[in-house]
Amino acid sequence: MKKLQCAISQCLLGEKVRYDGREKLNTFITQELSRNIDWLPICPEVEIGLPVPRPPIHLINSEIGIRAVFVQDESHDLTETLRGHASSMQEKLLNVDGYIFKARSPSCGVRTVPVQGEKFLTNGIFVEAVKKLLPCLPLIDEEQIADKNLRVQFFESMLSYRATREK
Ligand code: SF4
Repeated sequence: MKKLQCAISQCLLGEKVRYDGREKLNTFITQELSRNIDWLPICPEVEIGLPVPRPPIHLINSEIGIRAVFVQDESHDLTETLRGHASSMQEKLLNVDGYIFKARSPSCGVRTVPVQGEKFLTNGIFVEAVKKLLPCLPLIDEEQIADKNLRVQFFESMLSYRATREK
């Protein structure tokens, strides 16, 4: 069977792109899933020009909605830049069948990201923008994909999405 094409948070492939200069290698993904998937690695924070290492970012709930800002300088707002980067990636993302994100990241988390001072969890800013651009693209995070049932569902969704995409 032709390999699936999947975007992935770059740190999960073992690349040192995190704010603290580290990676988040997930060997299940790199060893097991790589048999059936070709990867499109994306680190939105590095791709918008932030260095490694860099000051940490978190989400706040402001008058104009959820924003991604630097923890130590909340006046430095990265929200629109991250959204703009998602738009600039749209053409590449039209060629993938799914996307595996890093959980809890203010850019990449899928429904797992805390908002300062609030009790709810939400999507990272980049994820939210990708979902708006490509609402049917199957998304999952690295913790969900460790669950066999969720993994099977994700693969089924990717296969069906690919069938639609290639029509
Ligand atoms: S979670 Fe996303 S933004 Fe953060 S290092 Fe990984 S790929 Fe980059």
